[in-house]
Amino acid sequence: MSAHNDDCLFCRLIRGEIPSAVVYENEQVYAFLDINPVSRGHVLIVPRDHAETLFDMRPGADAALLDAMRKVGRAVMLATGAEGLNVVQNNYKAAGQEVPHVHWHLIPRHAGDGHSPWPHGNYADTEEMGAVAAAIKSAL
Ligand code: AMP
Ligand code: ZN
Repeated sequence: MSAHNDDCLFCRLIRGEIPSAVVYENEQVYAFLDINPVSRGHVLIVPRDHAETLFDMRPGADAALLDAMRKVGRAVMLATGAEGLNVVQNNYKAAGQEVPHVHWHLIPRHAGDGHSPWPHGNYADTEEMGAVAAAIKSAL
């Protein structure tokens, strides 16, 4: 029996209380069409167990999720004729997470479709870059 949250949109959707266009499901994961797709065939993959973000998940579900992403991602590309696929995962509101049940977006991409992600910046110098890397390492 999966842990669920009665107030969670995706838990309710997994339980069939809210309709969804399911494309794949197994004991651990549930995959369905995003209702407001970035492009045709945009899929969301979620673990059945309720966890708000990536950091709240029990580690055991990781392998099943990656397997499902590869399986469903390949099928999305074949079915839509996409030439590429973005896998996107937002954690917390500041990063654009709207639904607090961890999920991965599989977004089919076509050359020149204009959906390219965020712009890239740069570091002032290698010293600044080294300091940022050091801060992350010391937080591990
Ligand atoms: P995020 O911003 O990463 O939390 O993504 C949430 C996604 O859930 C958005 O892309 C929404 O379009 C999608 N969404 C919200 N409600 C539903 C629903 N009932 N069925 C399918 N997708 C949904
Ligand atoms: Zn949930």
